[in-house]
Amino acid sequence: MSAISALTPADVTSALRPHRTASRRIGFVPTMGALHDGHRALFDRARTECDVVVASIFVNPMQFENPDDLARYPATLSADLEICASAGVDLVYRPAASTMYPVGFDSRVDVGRIGRVLEGRSRAGHYDGVATVVAKLLNVVRPDRAYFGQKDYQQILVVARMVLDLEIGVDIITVPTVRETDGLALSSRNTRLDANARARAVAISRAIAVTATRFAHGTTGARELSNEAIETIEAAGLDVDYVTITDPATLEPRETVRAGDVILVAATIDGVRLIDNAILGA
Ligand code: AMP
Repeated sequence: MSAISALTPADVTSALRPHRTASRRIGFVPTMGALHDGHRALFDRARTECDVVVASIFVNPMQFENPDDLARYPATLSADLEICASAGVDLVYRPAASTMYPVGFDSRVDVGRIGRVLEGRSRAGHYDGVATVVAKLLNVVRPDRAYFGQKDYQQILVVARMVLDLEIGVDIITVPTVRETDGLALSSRNTRLDANARARAVAISRAIAVTATRFAHGTTGARELSNEAIETIEAAGLDVDYVTITDPATLEPRETVRAGDVILVAATIDGVRLIDNAILGA
């Protein structure tokens, strides 16, 4: 079935009504478009686990604290719709900004501590924007399962917290990060890197991989491991925002690393902010 587009909540409700009546399992993949194989992995997973797959494409102004980043966010709608169709997405919800945030809109979902550390500290209000838009999308689509990429590790914790706290009845499914062959995590923002920056950006995933290897060989000092990772990334000419090794659920920094902890990295190259992470000892 080729993907059809729905532009309003009412379109989504009526398109999904027969499926809901037939108790078919609905899977949902929220995106901001500029789709790549990382998104594709989410669609594929939803396709294998659900009867109906819904994607959304909406570049959410509320989660961009930097207007320049929003203005430069890539838009590739016709290619996106082709990817959705070829991945077997049944319905693509792509609401207008005026539908999502009409005149008078004045609510926000604030997820608290987990949304204020790391990305939340560097990008004030970012996770309020994410949580608010995800809550709105979940309320419209009302899926059984929603799929998120591990690439945005903290985002999953924020969404999971919100879903639990607000009793939104949906299972949150995490899909592993899809990478280029050299290790760079796929991201819509990668298209903004020129060849030189692209070559240097791989330092992030390299540093993470080296940390994982060093941990596997017995180094457990979080400071030693993260300092080494910072040096590797800075040596490639990137500006490190943070490198931290934390408890995987609370994002509290560790002193001594245990198997299952997560290393999280944010760094900027040529004005493009990239994030990545990995579970250590996995
Ligand atoms: P975005 O369009 O960047 O908001 O991402 C939409 C969804 O795709 C989020 O759940 C992301 O975590 C996920 N995603 C983005 N890049 C990747 C990747 N390289 N691997 C797996 N999932 C990803």
